[in-house]
Amino acid sequence: MAERLLLHVCCGPCSTSSIERLLEEGYEPVLFFSDSNIFPYEEFMKRYENLMIVAQHYGLETILDSWDHDEWLEWIKGHEDDKEHGARCSLCFRFNLLRAKAKAEELGIHKFATTLTVSRFKSSSTIFSQGEDLEGFEKIDFKKKDGFNRSIQISKELGLYRQKWCGCEFSLRDSDA
Ligand code: SF4
Repeated sequence: MAERLLLHVCCGPCSTSSIERLLEEGYEPVLFFSDSNIFPYEEFMKRYENLMIVAQHYGLETILDSWDHDEWLEWIKGHEDDKEHGARCSLCFRFNLLRAKAKAEELGIHKFATTLTVSRFKSSSTIFSQGEDLEGFEKIDFKKKDGFNRSIQISKELGLYRQKWCGCEFSLRDSDA
């Protein structure tokens, strides 16, 4: 029987090639959409609905976490004006990885990973540094093995929405969206 792995998912497009790789490596991914960083709520739900297209395509169980944006804002307080890729983003990764660890424990799943490493705009080593002390965290670099390009390819095939900003209101402010 395939080993279950809780996959923290940041969005549908990034989940595609990550799922494909995990399946190839013999895992049974359980998808966990936990992204209280995303703003506004309508955008959070839009990204979740896109993930459901992917989940149905691969026939995978998906768990939706609550949208606790106020808690997230408190977590990154003082870093609202940081540039993207700075300390705010490291804190943001940590927030979501802690949620994933707690959910994995609750479900009795011994390993978890995150799709955040797919993006070529995010440093995998920074993400790993935020999770390496968390028991069960698998440092899987999903941008390896051409993961980023493959995610674009599958997303097009499935007709997925691909957002123009990372997620929070500060990234929206600093984007062209
Ligand atoms: S830019 Fe992205 S990674 Fe950085 S804090 Fe905002 S949502 Fe999180």
